Amino acid sequence: MKNSNIRNYDYFCIIMRIDIITVLPELLESPLSHSIIKRARAKSLAEIVIHDLRTYGKGKYLQTDDYSFGGDAGMVMMIEPVYNLLEDLKKDRLYDEILYTSPDGELFSQKEANRLSCLQNIIILCGHYKGIDQRIRDHLITKEISIGDYVLSGGELAAAVITDALVRLLPGALSDETSALTDSFQDGLLAPPIYTRPANFRGWKVPEVLLCGDPVKIRTWQEEKSLDRTERLRPDLLKNNSGD
Ligand code: SAH
Repeated sequence: MKNSNIRNYDYFCIIMRIDIITVLPELLESPLSHSIIKRARAKSLAEIVIHDLRTYGKGKYLQTDDYSFGGDAGMVMMIEPVYNLLEDLKKDRLYDEILYTSPDGELFSQKEANRLSCLQNIIILCGHYKGIDQRIRDHLITKEISIGDYVLSGGELAAAVITDALVRLLPGALSDETSALTDSFQDGLLAPPIYTRPANFRGWKVPEVLLCGDPVKIRTWQEEKSLDRTERLRPDLLKNNSGD
């Protein structure tokens, strides 16, 4: 084959498909249309399909939410539109995970991003208003994920965060020099400090070692800095590693 030693992902088939279900598709359009995600979609590494739940809404007003039983404040997303949309999606492919973004879900991590990025088909359901009918969570969702201990207005930003973290891990999404393997958390440590030109800006100098050209010395310095940063800023990561 001509140029067989050239790595070219352009001819690859889809590595991962992510279906996102939302009542506000507009909120997801921009975050998933730029930079690394845009490139991964253009190269067909990832297929990201955003579904407007309202198209499955009930009645004349395409209703997707209703008052909560028990009379608590806030609207609740109804089970029927979600169920029907999921049924339609499942007709076309087998899904490895059906995720629900939720503040009381498992805290999202690089470890979980690595795991999910190895799957083929996933669905992310974004909640809105007060949340979703508990029966969706009990019977249709396979995993619940939180992006932090705070409450957002809807799951769209959380879905964008999760999707971004997954797609950048797909082979071919990042160029070699931005390899995900050297990012924070991949080896349980924070990334070392980085610099670019000029080497001296108003007397603020780049550490000498980075200019010496010796890859072993540079790597040793980076490892020391990684460890030092992790000890100072996130000692919990070192504890977690030793417990693994
Ligand atoms: N009543 C809920 C919060 C609803 S917020 C509660 O107290 O737990 C509306 C929607 O935003 C949720 O259904 C969820 O999909 C999303 N959301 C809010 N905070 C989130 C977080 N930290 N991580 C992931 N999704 C979140």
